[in-house]
Amino acid sequence: MKRLAFFASLIAIVMTVLSCAGPVQTPNPEDLRAGIIPQGVEFEPRPDLDMNAKLDAFAEFELTSNLGHLTADEREILPILFEVAGIMEDLFWKQAIGNRDDFLNRIKDEKAAKYARIHYGPWDRLSNNEAFLTNIGPKPAGANFYPEDMTKEEFEALADPNKTSQYTLIRRDESGNLKVVWYHEAYKEKIMRAAELLKKAAGISQNAAFKNYLNLRAEALLTDNYQPSDMAWMDMKDSNVDFVVGPIENYEDQLFGYKAAHEAFILVKDPEWSSRLQRFAVLLPDLQKGIPADDKYKQEMPGSDSDLNVYDAIFYAGDCNAGSKTIAINLPNDPEVHVAKGTRKLQLKNSMKAKFDKILIPIAEKLIDPEQQKHVTFDAFFTNTTFHEVAHGMGVKNTVNGKGTVREALKETYTSIEEGKADIMGLWMVAQLREKGEITEGELMDNYVTFCAGIFRSSRFGTASAHGKANMMRFNFFEEYGAFTRNAEGYYTVNAEKMTEAMNILVNKITVIQGEGDYDTAKAWIESDGSLSESLRTDLARLNEGGIPVDIYFKQGPEMVAVK
Ligand code: ZN
Repeated sequence: MKRLAFFASLIAIVMTVLSCAGPVQTPNPEDLRAGIIPQGVEFEPRPDLDMNAKLDAFAEFELTSNLGHLTADEREILPILFEVAGIMEDLFWKQAIGNRDDFLNRIKDEKAAKYARIHYGPWDRLSNNEAFLTNIGPKPAGANFYPEDMTKEEFEALADPNKTSQYTLIRRDESGNLKVVWYHEAYKEKIMRAAELLKKAAGISQNAAFKNYLNLRAEALLTDNYQPSDMAWMDMKDSNVDFVVGPIENYEDQLFGYKAAHEAFILVKDPEWSSRLQRFAVLLPDLQKGIPADDKYKQEMPGSDSDLNVYDAIFYAGDCNAGSKTIAINLPNDPEVHVAKGTRKLQLKNSMKAKFDKILIPIAEKLIDPEQQKHVTFDAFFTNTTFHEVAHGMGVKNTVNGKGTVREALKETYTSIEEGKADIMGLWMVAQLREKGEITEGELMDNYVTFCAGIFRSSRFGTASAHGKANMMRFNFFEEYGAFTRNAEGYYTVNAEKMTEAMNILVNKITVIQGEGDYDTAKAWIESDGSLSESLRTDLARLNEGGIPVDIYFKQGPEMVAVK
């Protein structure tokens, strides 16, 4: 009864807030906050930059899919999901810079404004976060998650256990002291609206597992406890529509790697390609045992019921739409969910094919030994990318020496090391499966050469991101080992034998760093090898002169898939 009364008054308050714009409305501090963009100035494109060339580096791609196999309720839900995704979009802008509209309104140049939308701010995510507008300083490592003037020491001194939560902001109180604010409080109105919409979608869904997930995800947004909804998401096996939504990845927080940023993907399953992948799931425990490392690092068993499915993405919002585009998803990130239920791997086939056709093939033509170009295939690209995601669920999640989870022990180096692991261990798994006769399409050399072409593709994203650093560490390692050689004309030739050796050594090296929670070694490695070598810089310049796009951006929305 008390509860009902509470909710009744809550609804009354919400109605009041929604219906009048007068003095009753209490302004949300996060909406008023200027954020990390300088105030009171206008922004021009930096005069030394060519905005046309910058925009040309992004090939437009239309996100569509065949919705023919969707059920009536799945179709009915889609427009609601687009609306929720729009809210995630708004929240990510707040986390990345603060006040989006105020920022965009002060960019008078149309092309620069378009570029700012692609990057969700004034810093080029594909050029080491350098500012492309005037009047802008370097990007704060902690984005808008922390006060800009906060020092690491000040943060360490804050005695609040929730300060390292993925779902809190760090702000200053009236006296200027640090305080912790939960996302559901900081973004209250938007979170409540998103939750309401998710519950509405849940009410329409005829799929028990999807319905359950949508309801629990609404609760998660309202409470910042995501685990029950992550568990429920793991149980979603047969829905044709999927919705990844909430604060998920930690890449935007480059200060500590703690804070998760909001995003959403709306996905439509590809039933044919999905069945092709599912046969690998049962082989994971065996592969885990075969990792070239000491037995003590192989004690955790990857969930053998982890599923692999193929989707077309029809909408990217927020974090996942900023700068370079993800072509595969491996979630959830919660290690406890991994242990209990494994992870789900979602391969985004339409985005993947776009990158292969528009970027990877032209790159291979410029940089791969003409004799070996035939080994660059979509099949190998698809398999390598797929096993990158599978590999995230392999190896160690918890250190073997009591340092807690690998994520905690490796702190801000975690994502670079983890992405590096996923890439190399994924390739290693493909090689194993070929040896066991489980993968028979094409040949191992296709995977090796396509993998190398893939490194060039990713190198062009710069080294600002965790993926970028991981990519350079792997490139430098391979080059030193002789896994590939560069001839005088700038073509790269893969040496299969040395590639296999280098791959095994690298899998071992990363497994040991993770198992030991060896932060110092991880940090030293990123510092020494996480940047571009001179010869690679020259090669990448050739690609840019050749007009090959660096990435794609999406023309997307309900109108693209004809849902209203
Ligand atoms: Zn990854």
